[in-house]
Amino acid sequence: MVAAVSVVGVDVGGTRVKAALFDSRARTVRRATASTPSGPPGPVIERLAALILGLRGSHRVRAVGVGFCGMVDHRRGVVLETTETLPGWRDVPLARELASRVGVPCVIDNDANLAALGEATLGAGRGADPVVAFTLGTGVGGGIVIDGELLRGAGGMAANLGHLGVRPNGRRCACGARGCLEAYASAWALRRRLGLDAREVFRRARRGDGRCRRALDDAADALGRAFADVANAINPEVIVVGGGLSRGLSRLRPGMLRAYEARALPVAGATTRIVRARYPLDAGVLGAAALARALPR
Ligand SMILES: [Zn+2]
Repeated sequence: MVAAVSVVGVDVGGTRVKAALFDSRARTVRRATASTPSGPPGPVIERLAALILGLRGSHRVRAVGVGFCGMVDHRRGVVLETTETLPGWRDVPLARELASRVGVPCVIDNDANLAALGEATLGAGRGADPVVAFTLGTGVGGGIVIDGELLRGAGGMAANLGHLGVRPNGRRCACGARGCLEAYASAWALRRRLGLDAREVFRRARRGDGRCRRALDDAADALGRAFADVANAINPEVIVVGGGLSRGLSRLRPGMLRAYEARALPVAGATTRIVRARYPLDAGVLGAAALARALPR
């Protein structure tokens, strides 16, 4: 018996690659994870292709969707530039290279865009419109889904929500500017400020460590300001908060809501709900699969 037609979704993050095979009804058949391979494109693409082929097994896969940490031209299927994790990646035709190795069409997009698409179609944003998603991980990613479609923008750069300006002349961001959300509410920012990973910062703050508490208060305030600006600009039905740092959302919520209520216009603020992601760590894989499924047959 030939297995039903299915798709593979892959999320290539800064530290982990997550992938899953889905059946024709969008149910997970099997999963795989690996460390994100480092190095030049050639060997990394080989490793990704091997992961996809291993997942496929004897299933009939008709397309593969890949979310990639970096700037992606989704129309051409090209990785324009990556974070420091994968140096030497510039203008890499990842979709074409992967497709030639796995033998089926591949589509790629920015990982945060696909996490937003995953939450909007299957997660905490299901049934809501518009949906804006923030992924609080190593950095801060974002995605905007309107009418079920990702908002891409003129140059494909829409929804870089980690670089919303929340503090004039604030802390320096990885992008070179000052006062971006990412400079406060990311694992990278906490590590740079305190030399600790995020989990440890939350733990020490609970025990009363003043520096850790201040850093989390600043992160909460930055999130509230960013969410208010998004509510004022787009008035989404929901703002979905995911990524590893969202596990600490209950600690951040009071400060976040104070800043949000101070800045959001009354109707915009009251009609935009801020919710925790349903799949804080797996939305990217679900979104990648949704992108693959949307390819014309
Ligand atoms: Zn920035």
